[in-house]
Amino acid sequence: MIPFLDLKKVNSPYDAAFQEKLKVVLEKGWYILGNEVNEFEKSFATYCGTNHCIGVGNGFDAITLIFKGYIALGKLKKGDEVIVPANTFIASVLSIVEADLVPVLVEPRLATYNINPDLIADKITAKTKAILAVHLYGQLAEMDSINAIAQANDLLVIEDAAQAHGAEFINQKRAGDLSHAAAFSFYPGKNLGALGDAGAIVTNDEALSNVLYSIRNYGSKVKYENEVIGVNSRLDELQAAFLNVKLPSLKQENERRMTIAKQYLGKIKNAKIKLPFWDFSNNHVFHLFVIRTKERAELQQFLLDKGIQTVIHYPIPPHKQKALKQWSQLSLPVTEKIHKEVLSLPISPAMTDEEVRFVIENLNSF
Ligand SMILES: *Cc1c(COP(=O)(O)O)cnc(C)c1O
Repeated sequence: MIPFLDLKKVNSPYDAAFQEKLKVVLEKGWYILGNEVNEFEKSFATYCGTNHCIGVGNGFDAITLIFKGYIALGKLKKGDEVIVPANTFIASVLSIVEADLVPVLVEPRLATYNINPDLIADKITAKTKAILAVHLYGQLAEMDSINAIAQANDLLVIEDAAQAHGAEFINQKRAGDLSHAAAFSFYPGKNLGALGDAGAIVTNDEALSNVLYSIRNYGSKVKYENEVIGVNSRLDELQAAFLNVKLPSLKQENERRMTIAKQYLGKIKNAKIKLPFWDFSNNHVFHLFVIRTKERAELQQFLLDKGIQTVIHYPIPPHKQKALKQWSQLSLPVTEKIHKEVLSLPISPAMTDEEVRFVIENLNSF
């Protein structure tokens, strides 16, 4: 059996170090916003190449709080429109709604699954104030084009980098350092995963970082003094401790994912299967390896019969979800085609070469 993602196996190399960290935290007896959170915020900012990192409760809060921070600073206001890819995990769209802003959905390119920058200009109105770029499946969105459009129209650019920790732009800048502010998730299955919920915001904007340190903690920096309307969304001290253990290995784990992706791209040969586009630069950290096929249900069952587990990311596009029914009439054919055809193959740093070979052989015999 090849599971889609064996998290226990992914985390097993860190077992002893996790136990050690638990002991350290227990001995200290400090459970909220302590040394581990401070250390992680410093290390993750350095890793991303940004000046600031604010640890928060999860990836959804990370995106939402960026918007709330800009609202607190007067740079955004209720009802402003935010450009967002139609093809994304629903959290990207929900974060905009949660901040009382209006999502404007834009179609992706079929080849990369990421937002098509050529279609953004048409959607810009007097109310458009920001673009939420998503690095879907681990591949950077076209940030040069997106930033150029934003500059020409005086828009904020925010990255949803929840799937792209460590993905590198041409000039070696990393995901998180390609916009005004970026959101990360450390949900256990992400490329950098905690042992529970966790998230972070990175930015070079000092005013934004200052207000975010408050907003994540009830709008307070000094205990019981509240300067803005905040929430409780702090990065948990224990999760930060576990992330401190794993961060130094992220580069190596991403490299393993890229090595597997190269095998898949070079050796899967089946006319019924479309492989994902990759320019073989470090701009894709393969959070997911997503193929397309018109015979998805058959292929998924065929692989399952051979003991290979696959997952669909995602079966229903955001605008077709009941929760977002006011957007259901939009015509988004590329997004809908993608949702009908995609299938994610197992890819994780814990996969053996033998498992990778077995997946390839079976795809070729379908
Ligand atoms: C996982 C994810 C999120 C949300 O992160 P959580 O930590 O689960 O809240 C947001 N956007 C994208 C693209 C994601 O993959």
